[in-house]
Amino acid sequence: MLTRRQLIIGTPATLLTTAIAGKAFAGTIGVNDAQAAQPAPAAGPFTLPPLGYAVDALEPHIDAQTMTIHHDRHHQTYVTNLNNAVATAPELKTRSVEDLVQNLASLPASVQTAVRNSGGGHLNHTMFWTSLKKGGGVPPSAELGRAITAAFGSFDALKTQLTNTATGVFGSGWAWLSLDPAGKLIVEPSPNQDNPITKGNTPLLGIDVWEHAYYLKYQNRRKDYVDAIFNVIDWDVVQQRFAAKK
Ligand code: MN
Repeated sequence: MLTRRQLIIGTPATLLTTAIAGKAFAGTIGVNDAQAAQPAPAAGPFTLPPLGYAVDALEPHIDAQTMTIHHDRHHQTYVTNLNNAVATAPELKTRSVEDLVQNLASLPASVQTAVRNSGGGHLNHTMFWTSLKKGGGVPPSAELGRAITAAFGSFDALKTQLTNTATGVFGSGWAWLSLDPAGKLIVEPSPNQDNPITKGNTPLLGIDVWEHAYYLKYQNRRKDYVDAIFNVIDWDVVQQRFAAKK
């Protein structure tokens, strides 16, 4: 699992997994994903965190080929483009991606779009990988379980809301379980790579519904993918985020 420090400063480049997918798949990821092409890399400060588990660990719910391309190519592209953006504004290099995304309006206008898209992509995916595990899906107990019941009526009712939100995102985006500024649990969508922190909310769990997250296995059946991902969500991690932030 990534520590908060790793999330902020990234992990050593030596831990990068090797991109093994090959170019044969590059044109099949999703027609709306213009970032599939690999830009030229820039030196740091942001790095791709390792998955933390094997690319086939989440089979059959999320297939190894999707995991490989999603992590090694798509996430790497967000990291590379974020590095390219901060290379033009070196005063940003020492700031965490969370800080940059949360304070978008205060950044130089020339980098705001890149930080929003690629910084958001780096932040969202770093959180996404650590929200999943083999043998997940066990509903949270303890305080998060009680809070979910209080807010939504039941864990199943939360799953229904997350599913409806995830399937309802038009185009590319995410469905989130978040805390609002008052500390209330909410389900919300976001477009593209926007993160709930830009609205003052605290994300606890994000479900990626970009086509690149599911199209190789599920094609247009986004709901089947969303149904399947509940089998690999690590609710212990979500509980830890809840306990840390509430
Ligand atoms: Mn993604």
